[in-house]
Amino acid sequence: MLSVLKNRFEQGCRTSRYPKVNVQLPSRYRGRPVVNADVPADLAEACAAACPQEAIDAKARTLHLGRCVFCGNCERISGGQFVRFTQNFENGVAEKAHLVTQGDLPDLAAHARQHFKGLFGRSLQLRQVSAAGCNACEADLNVLATPFFDLARFGINFVASPRHADGIVVTGPISRNMKTALMQTYEATPQPRVVIAVGSCALSGGPFRGSNEITEGLDSLLPVDLFIPGCPPHPMTNLHALLTFFK
Ligand code: SF4
Ligand code: SF4
Repeated sequence: MLSVLKNRFEQGCRTSRYPKVNVQLPSRYRGRPVVNADVPADLAEACAAACPQEAIDAKARTLHLGRCVFCGNCERISGGQFVRFTQNFENGVAEKAHLVTQGDLPDLAAHARQHFKGLFGRSLQLRQVSAAGCNACEADLNVLATPFFDLARFGINFVASPRHADGIVVTGPISRNMKTALMQTYEATPQPRVVIAVGSCALSGGPFRGSNEITEGLDSLLPVDLFIPGCPPHPMTNLHALLTFFK
């Protein structure tokens, strides 16, 4: 017993002080991309051609955050002149149209105040549905339960049954085989309920875009309240979006 207590004392508290104290992510982390509109057309077109996700509109000089898989091709090709990735992990949006951006995103908290603040109070229970994801989005949601992030301290938990949930969190490109299970889970969740799409797959089909076996965007099936881009979104992106939107 004493050795356990000694160990606990030596380890100290490992839980992040976020959101009171900001978290600095490693320099290699690719956060929100910023697009420089003042580049020659051929450079923007070269980046668009190299994008595996057709996420870049060279004419409008915009980037579709919901399609982007953060591979970094565009930054490499342009030497950071056209697209540059920042350390900003605050990438959740309330409207899909906001995902098409040059780097600015609207204030998520303002939208949340109108819609959700007060609705779920200090408790938000979520059911996760992995609709054919590769397991990276799921793993980075799962990690929110670990001591560093400790999601439960904010009153947010993942629960086993949709009947105990206030909403669903969907990952993956929603394969044909998973569609029925997803819709049944949604129907089993009592109202009022929220729908959260996490990851490029759930937002746009991700790397599977164009396949007949998937649904290109959860919003074509269900009314999505919160879109969290990334492939996978960093746990801090998920945490920031959940706290800003619901707390
Ligand atoms: S980082 Fe995103 S926008 Fe750039 S090339 Fe990769 S998928 Fe396309
Ligand atoms: S968005 Fe990327 S990480 Fe998430 S399930 Fe799809 S392929 Fe995997």
